[in-house]
Amino acid sequence: MSVIFDKVSKQFPDGTLALDNLDLEFAKGEFVVFLGPSGSGKTTACRCLSGLEEITSGRILVDGVDVTPLPPRKRNMSMVFQNYALYPHKSVFENIAYPLRVRKLARGRIAEEVSRVAKLLQIEDYLDRRPRQLSGGQAQRVAVARALVWKPDICLMDEPLSNLDALLRLQTRTELKRLHRELGSTFVFVTHDQEEAMTLGTRIALLCYGRLVQFDVPRKIYHEPATRFVAEFIGRPAMNTLEGRLLEGVFHTDDTEIAAPGLLETDRAVVLGIRPERIVLHRAAGAGRVPFILDVAELVEPDTLLFVKSNGTSLVARATEDSSDIAPGDSVYLEFPPDALHLFDQSTGRRLS
Ligand code: ATP
Repeated sequence: MSVIFDKVSKQFPDGTLALDNLDLEFAKGEFVVFLGPSGSGKTTACRCLSGLEEITSGRILVDGVDVTPLPPRKRNMSMVFQNYALYPHKSVFENIAYPLRVRKLARGRIAEEVSRVAKLLQIEDYLDRRPRQLSGGQAQRVAVARALVWKPDICLMDEPLSNLDALLRLQTRTELKRLHRELGSTFVFVTHDQEEAMTLGTRIALLCYGRLVQFDVPRKIYHEPATRFVAEFIGRPAMNTLEGRLLEGVFHTDDTEIAAPGLLETDRAVVLGIRPERIVLHRAAGAGRVPFILDVAELVEPDTLLFVKSNGTSLVARATEDSSDIAPGDSVYLEFPPDALHLFDQSTGRRLS
C-alpha cells in the first residue's frame, strides 16, 4: 500500500492557501509525522487525506486508487483528534466496540477484538468503567483503541497527545511506538512538537506555509537539514546561523572569521550553521579558535548552555563537560570542527553543503 499526495492544493473560501502543491509519497507501515510551525498546513493535510476536507486541486492516491472523490467513510481510515470525544454514557468496552457494532460484527468477534486492542494499550482492566472514571492518559488510550480496533488501512492522529501532562505524554508516546511496531499499520501523526516527531516518525514531513520543505528520516532532518528553515526549526536550542561570505576556505562575517575548509565556494552571500553541541569549548587561545566573551551560562543538567558574544556575533554552545569555572565576562575560545559546519544560500535558504 502506498499513499500519494499528487500536487495537492487546498484553498479555503476566504482565500487562505493552506496547502500549496504538496507532493508526498509514503508506503504501508510507515509512521509519518507532519511537523511544522502553527498554521503550516499539518491538520489540513491530515483532513484532506481522511476526506474531511475537499482539496482544491491535485489528487490523493491510496494503493493506486484516486480517493479524491470518495467520502471519508469509503477511505478505510480512522482519526484520533486532540479533543478525542468518547461517549460519556457508554462503558470503555462499548466506546471501543462502537466501530465494530456499526460494521455489524458478531458479538463474539467484537469481544475478541476489543480485548485484543485493550490489551495492547494496557486498558483491559478499565473496560467496565465510564470515561469520566479514567485519567487523561487512559481516556486517550481508549480513543486510540477505538481508532485501531477495526483495523483501518491508515490511522490518522492529529495532536493526540497534546492534552496530556508531560509524563503521560512521554508514556503514551512510547506506547504508540510499540503499538505501531506490533500492528504494522500505517500511522499519520500531526504534531508541532519536534521531539515527538523525532522519536515517533519513521519519516518526518516538515511543512512551512503549506509547502513540503523536507521529507526524510529524523536523523537526516537533524544532521542534513535541506534548508536554513529546517536547521533553525529542529533542535533545542536551534542551530546557530551566521550570515556572511566564504572566501578561500574562510567564512567572514563583519566581525568574525571562522575557518571553513572543504565547503562549497560561492560568491553569493551564505549562511554558516553549526549545532550548539558541536562547538568545542577551550579556555585558552590557539590556532583555529575564535575568541568570544561569555554572556550567560544556563545549567540544563547534565549540560551547560553557554551564550557567548563577540562584537556583533552571538552564539550558543552546549558544553557537556563541567564549565562552572567560567563566569560571565570571561573569555572563551571556540573551535568549529569543519565536519560540523553547514552552509546555506542566504537568499534561497537552500543547503549548499
Ligand atoms: P496548528 O499547529 O496551529 O494546528 P496547522 O499546521 O495544523 O496549525 P492548519 O490548521 O492546517 O495548520 O491551517 C493551515 C492554514 O489554513 C492556517 O493559515 C489556517 O489559519 C488556515 N485555515 C485552517 N482552516 C481554515 C478554514 N476553515 N478557513 C480558513 N482558513 C483556514
